[in-house]
Amino acid sequence: MSTPARITHLIGGTPWEGTAERSGAVFNPATGEQTGAVDFASAALVDEVVTGAHAAWQEWGTASLAKRTQVLFAFRELLHARKDEIAALITAEHGKVLSDALGEITRGLEVVEFACGIPHLLKGGYSENVSTKVDVYSIRQSLGVVAVISPFNFPAMVPMWFVPIAIACGNAVVIKPSEKDPSAVNAVAALWREAGLPEGVMNVVHGDKEAVDALLTHPLVKSVSFVGSTPIAKYVYETGTANGKRVQALGGAKNHMLVLPDADLDLAADAAVNAGFGSAGERCMAISALVAVEPVADELISKITDRMGKLVTGDGTRGCDMGPLVTRAHCDKVTSYVQAGVDAGATLVVDGRGGEVDADGEGFFLSPTLFDQVTPDMSIYTDEIFGPVLSVLRVKSYDEGLALINSNAYGNGTAIFTNDGGAARRFQNEVEVGMIGINVPIPVPMAYFSFGGWKNSLFGDTHAHGMEGVHFFTRGKVVTSRWLDPSHGGLNLGFPQNV
Ligand code: NAD
Repeated sequence: MSTPARITHLIGGTPWEGTAERSGAVFNPATGEQTGAVDFASAALVDEVVTGAHAAWQEWGTASLAKRTQVLFAFRELLHARKDEIAALITAEHGKVLSDALGEITRGLEVVEFACGIPHLLKGGYSENVSTKVDVYSIRQSLGVVAVISPFNFPAMVPMWFVPIAIACGNAVVIKPSEKDPSAVNAVAALWREAGLPEGVMNVVHGDKEAVDALLTHPLVKSVSFVGSTPIAKYVYETGTANGKRVQALGGAKNHMLVLPDADLDLAADAAVNAGFGSAGERCMAISALVAVEPVADELISKITDRMGKLVTGDGTRGCDMGPLVTRAHCDKVTSYVQAGVDAGATLVVDGRGGEVDADGEGFFLSPTLFDQVTPDMSIYTDEIFGPVLSVLRVKSYDEGLALINSNAYGNGTAIFTNDGGAARRFQNEVEVGMIGINVPIPVPMAYFSFGGWKNSLFGDTHAHGMEGVHFFTRGKVVTSRWLDPSHGGLNLGFPQNV
């Protein structure tokens, strides 16, 4: 076994040269081997980095839109050129198959491309002569130092929901990636420097709760963009806002796919398998609950089972369909849900435990697993499992299915499969979920729309990227101006009225 590589903070584009008091182990989930040791930042180091970022912001916040756009375009080209090597880093630490790792970089690139249009996106409004010879205009300015705290499951894409827009808006960024797969963020951050971003504008601190708490309480940090599990999202939202910060905290999910009797069942079965088992179910938009409106359940399950039989689980570098789970602990937790489902009385249609795996070593694998006859009181339904476990719930009607979805604590994504336009239109209107797919299983919005769920899937008011992202990373000002001319009217202590 080779010595684990050291992974350290990237401060203003330069690797940190200090000695960390604490570190975390990073694994190749396909082999089970520890491949890295990531330095954990102390609160003192976070303070140093935030202070440096604040100094860098003083200049970057006033950089011309032309200069910012040049950096963004250069970054876009570099990211595009290096996407294969970054995808390889993702697969090596997260475990997702290479094509999926490349897919997340492509979705991240879309946000970079959106941010390249920042001169247009930051245009304010101007009204001439709102009163006689008085003009009013609005402008948006950067916040200062903004923090991003990201999860393990999209080590490149989730940071890119925020970082390109934050930088384009003139902010300085301190990001704390997941300690489980930290290398991709370092590789992407290095590209910002190469693209010409001034030193100190983009910084990476690695770590755990200590680093997160230091960011949440630091007076120079103006906003926090968090993505992760619901309990931590709630904590980040409450702590960040209590410390005066603007916070958007995206949490966990339990995404339902409602299949109506008139749906194309082949399309629905393909979608359920792709969205249930892609990235080993470790997607916040994964489908984990399939709600079948009778009488379709038996036929749908048979089609899904046929498709599951063709899936190959294994090392993501070998062209398999599905990779391992991210850590041994997470794999054990997900696997324990399979027994919990059996114990609760659900029907285990396909058991992924001990399935055949195309990999060397002791990787963290659970093959695709399917339950039928799941009821809303079972833990395999109530909990976010975040693994390749798909549960089928049978309902008698559209209304029963809708009520089930709306009573769930989460509201990230959902999908309806039907050929009835009226039913689909009713669903988009009535369902209490932030992102909806109609015959589309993972309805992740394009970069120029905004991404975010409802209920326990998002704490805060602003969704990620699109115009909501631009607004989150800027503050508005409205200017009322009058340039004196010979008609200047003299003293008047009355409340200003527009004449
Ligand atoms: P997580 O909540 O364990 O970790 C997220 C971040 O919080 C990491 O950077 C981690 O280091 C930090 N963290 C962990 N414990 C902390 C603590 N006690 N105090 C402060 N910070 C802490 O989430 P994860 O396991 O990395 O990611 C998976 C979760 O993220 C799932 O619940 C998934 O649904 C969710 N997710 C949601 C979205 C969305 O858009 N809503 C997108 C991706 C992932």
